[in-house]
Amino acid sequence: MHRREFLKFAAVSMVLNQVPPVFALESVSGKQNSTHFFSPGAADPQSIAPDRGVKDRLLKSQFFDHAFDDDIKVSQDDFFLLNTSLGRLNRIQKVIGYGNFSLLDFDDAVTLARSYPSIGQFPKPELIFLEKIFYGKAKEYGFMGEKPIDTITGKINKKDVEKIAHSGHYLYRGRPVEMFNAIQEKIGPDVVLTSGIRSVMKQFLLFLNKTSASLGNLSMASRSLAPPGYSFHGIGDFDVGKKGFGVANFTDRFTRTPVYQKLTDLGYIAFRYDRGNDLGVRFEPWHIKVA
Ligand SMILES: [Zn+2]
Repeated sequence: MHRREFLKFAAVSMVLNQVPPVFALESVSGKQNSTHFFSPGAADPQSIAPDRGVKDRLLKSQFFDHAFDDDIKVSQDDFFLLNTSLGRLNRIQKVIGYGNFSLLDFDDAVTLARSYPSIGQFPKPELIFLEKIFYGKAKEYGFMGEKPIDTITGKINKKDVEKIAHSGHYLYRGRPVEMFNAIQEKIGPDVVLTSGIRSVMKQFLLFLNKTSASLGNLSMASRSLAPPGYSFHGIGDFDVGKKGFGVANFTDRFTRTPVYQKLTDLGYIAFRYDRGNDLGVRFEPWHIKVA
């Protein structure tokens, strides 16, 4: 059995046996003395066993919405700052609107917050907390992807972007717009853009929201959302879905739609976070790799 097949097999075995994730993870990440995950006659487990990190990440990304014992969480003080910053970002979005917020950079966010009493300026501890999240190493809590944006103050040049009709989202001119148009042309009006360019601040809002809902669990949040700076939505990737399918577009149910089927049939579409990826990220069949 190849390593990838073994991993898939182990993960599927867990699902089939309904083993609680924490237990399951421990049972396969310890010594390879259990035959539970191997079919009779399989090769020597030692010779096919991947390193522990890869194995952990694969299992965890299957159970992306579960908390594991060794997940990394923010401190209690930082959890407070996380929630106050998140509230401020939500208030900014309310003031400037959803579309504008997706292009908003750090400096403009700070200026806006200062000028609107309904938002309130970012206190220093919040700014320090945001920098800590942005410049911290996401690998330390299990997100292994690249970081295409390396400064928190990175800007999006409005001249480089195009608003996509009826979507409320922007795409970068050039390849992303061309690719989306080609997809629409081939699939028809049933395919919609569900997320386009996300500025650093937009990614902050999404990531902090997820981390807050995960009770400060950075590992758990990053299994389904790239931390700020690490999202390729910042440089060209986008998400698509089936018209009228709502939030189900961001679940495995999307793979059972004709839109998904046609996307894969097109052949030249590459998914950034494919099934069984080694980055500690769940399978995202809606995310189109452009950049
Ligand atoms: Zn995406």
